[in-house]
Amino acid sequence: MDDALIEKLGILADAAKYDASCASSGAKPRSGGKEGLGSTTGAGICHAYTPDGRCVSLLKILLTNHCLFDCVYCINRRSSNVRRARFTVAEVVELTLGFYKRNCIEGLFLSSGIIRSPDHTMEQMMLVARTLRRDHGFAGYIHLKTIPEASPWLIEQAGLWADRLSINLELPSDHSLKAFAPEKNGGTIKAVMGQVNERIVEAKEERRRFSPAGQSTQLIVGADDATDRSVLETSGTLYQRYGLRRVYYSAFSPIPEASSVLPVKPPPLQRENRLYQADWLLRYYGFTVEEIASGGEGGMLDLGIDPKLAWALKNRERFPVDVNRADREMLLRVPGLGARAVDKILSARRHTRLRMEDLGRLSSGLRRARPFLIAADYHPVGGLTDRLDLRQRLVTPSSQLSLF
Ligand code: SF4
Repeated sequence: MDDALIEKLGILADAAKYDASCASSGAKPRSGGKEGLGSTTGAGICHAYTPDGRCVSLLKILLTNHCLFDCVYCINRRSSNVRRARFTVAEVVELTLGFYKRNCIEGLFLSSGIIRSPDHTMEQMMLVARTLRRDHGFAGYIHLKTIPEASPWLIEQAGLWADRLSINLELPSDHSLKAFAPEKNGGTIKAVMGQVNERIVEAKEERRRFSPAGQSTQLIVGADDATDRSVLETSGTLYQRYGLRRVYYSAFSPIPEASSVLPVKPPPLQRENRLYQADWLLRYYGFTVEEIASGGEGGMLDLGIDPKLAWALKNRERFPVDVNRADREMLLRVPGLGARAVDKILSARRHTRLRMEDLGRLSSGLRRARPFLIAADYHPVGGLTDRLDLRQRLVTPSSQLSLF
């Protein structure tokens, strides 16, 4: 790789780290030296999950960090003073193939600032994917970020070559978008999501490929005054209306020379974590946004405990739940029981009445679940769920590690 390309890679992989749709896992720079083998640059390798559940490493870069737009929260906005660079289509193809052949990556995550016009940018990105697939037979994973204002035809072309398309909404409300990203239009972004969703559904019915890993988006948290409730309401709508596969939450990180409308401090990182947990409840545990939000105060999630436990502590009259009789829906609401454990319980109880010992084998979260459960040989005496100190008893450093 020549020096100019390495320099561009340094700038454009660094600029891509603000996109949470792929969790970055860059390595510290390390040189193999004369006698060693290999080296790392720390540039832009991240991980993603393919539709069949495999975790793959991706080269995560921007095509360019030049941008015509001036979104205040973005380090690449046109008024920002960062070093700029731009790859050609051929360079991105060369880099991807080079890393792929050296077994460093299994795919590409490509995003971009907007140059010349949304159509021009989208076309360049689509050409990267098309060249990789058509001219080089590249079978790796490709995730393309779509440019919202680009023509529907170009976005459709992109979906033919990419495994996943995403379009970042960034802010949960039209009102915030108008204030922070005046050149973006929430309606247009959602229209593109609708269009992509229709094509994905059609392609599935016709058994052909169109963005087979679905579409995703990112919401920045803590840049505006949106509450967790309104962030989750937006996510709920995106899942229901546009069939999004994932909404990623990215805690706002202050950027150099930021606009005065932005907060000077990032939100607590735990907020991002709680939103991911709440999102999980929304998608897999049958909770509504209203229920999740009711576990916190003033529309904000409780940072001290996970949202499922927060809901259970505020709805103690629904517990304890009999593991030998309760339906799946209610078992899923027991803190400490994950979806897999619940399925194991349902299948095991067809053959026997479950005792605490059995539950210990079926779930690793029994310590947390215990106060909320009744088993064949266990009934919380005096109603553990009535204890005022239940929250304290459950919130210990080890319990923080468990998801639900
Ligand atoms: S359009 Fe994208 S890259 Fe350009 S300023 Fe806005 S968020 Fe940043």
